[in-house]
Amino acid sequence: MPRQYFIETFGCQMNVHDSERLAGLLDQAGYEPAKSAGEADLVVINTCSVRERPEERLYTELGMVPKGEGGNSPIIAVTGCVAQQEGDRLLERSSRVDLVVGTQALSRLPAMVEQLEDARSSGHLEQARGGRTRSDQHVERVDVNPYDNVSFPLGVTRRSDPVKASITIIEGCNDFCSFCVVPYTRGHERMRPVREIAEEVRQAAGEGHLEIHLLGQIVNHYQAPDQPHCDFAGLLELVHEINGVERIRFASPHPRHVTKRMIGAMRDLPKVCRHLHLPVQSGSTAVLKRMRRRHTREAYLDLVARLRDAVQDLALSTDMIVGFPGETDTDFEETMSLVRAVGYESMFSFKYSERPNTLASKRQPDDIPATEKTRRIVKLQETQKRIQQQLHARRVGAVEEVLVDSTSRRRSSELAGRTTRNTVVNFSAPDKLLGTVVPVRITNSGPFSLKGKLATAAERQGADLCRSK
Ligand code: SF4
Repeated sequence: MPRQYFIETFGCQMNVHDSERLAGLLDQAGYEPAKSAGEADLVVINTCSVRERPEERLYTELGMVPKGEGGNSPIIAVTGCVAQQEGDRLLERSSRVDLVVGTQALSRLPAMVEQLEDARSSGHLEQARGGRTRSDQHVERVDVNPYDNVSFPLGVTRRSDPVKASITIIEGCNDFCSFCVVPYTRGHERMRPVREIAEEVRQAAGEGHLEIHLLGQIVNHYQAPDQPHCDFAGLLELVHEINGVERIRFASPHPRHVTKRMIGAMRDLPKVCRHLHLPVQSGSTAVLKRMRRRHTREAYLDLVARLRDAVQDLALSTDMIVGFPGETDTDFEETMSLVRAVGYESMFSFKYSERPNTLASKRQPDDIPATEKTRRIVKLQETQKRIQQQLHARRVGAVEEVLVDSTSRRRSSELAGRTTRNTVVNFSAPDKLLGTVVPVRITNSGPFSLKGKLATAAERQGADLCRSK
């Protein structure tokens, strides 16, 4: 019987995609996916250190992996940002962890598992488990080394979504925003060759993935290492020409790398979705300076105006941190006024908390009381919810093109999909429409989603006429 694996994933889209790659590598090594950790011979916990208390979350997760009978516990491998950050310390702190594989060493996991299995079957298991070092005579337990090669073999990734395909174009980041752990956990910025990206997009589109998500920590900093004139706008143009691609999204751009060429590509290429996630982090220039964001409030608002001028009906979303060290009431009110001025369609908001190694953790005392951080985030989120409610209400009566990607979370009898502006729409329709783009007339709105009905031919025609005027 083939050995089985189970992957538990935390964190961002990048981590979810890393898990798809890991799954593909394990398939290649002869493993099959298990339905639960309890059935697996290998459990991979792919961690994230962006959210609060990531280590505690890991130890809770470790405690939930069932122990096998008669010493037949599954092998547990910890991967991702916490693995990269903590390295051997994870082996010291939990006897349940067998392997620690950093963010740049993921493709080494199958070989490391094999070594460990060999050690188990040859009777060196106890020695391997008792190890307190990075490796012992028989088993390499930890690999958190940097690897510059960002190539990934074509056709290996096991994509979990039949409609959308994530494709990494840049690994790592050189920006060192003072609150952010990513440059420490994912290493310096490395670009993937454009030739390899194009091949992967072609293959994903050929398999029926209509929507391509280009991923990178600063995705719009892309510069092809193998084609000197191909920047991010050039890459969008190239992906746009690939047959089978219906929609293109990307995450996350940095405001200071949004170029005229990029705005032009968003305006001129119809497959590029009318949605831009544009992280701002704070509305106060003083706070942005301490965050080392390298953009000001004014430059950000100017960019928003230029984007909206150029790209019709563009929806914006963002990331926001409240309670950053030294954030005064006035700074926070600037965040509130920026949120009202921009009118984001959605927002990921966080209370600031220190991350190990970051510049802020070394130089800026976390001086905003927890109660004040909570007050600020509650106020921010209430305002944001009201804005979303208002923006969504304006869509009622419109006919939107919806890419149907799942059954509705609320009602299993309904389907769900997203508009080009990235808003979720729920509506009744037959399952055969999954994986297609359909016109939906919006009938109701809430703060987090829209509700609609499949548009009739006449409604569709009316919408087309409005668009062409
Ligand atoms: S740009 Fe800043 S916030 Fe984004 S990954 Fe790099 S360091 Fe982190």
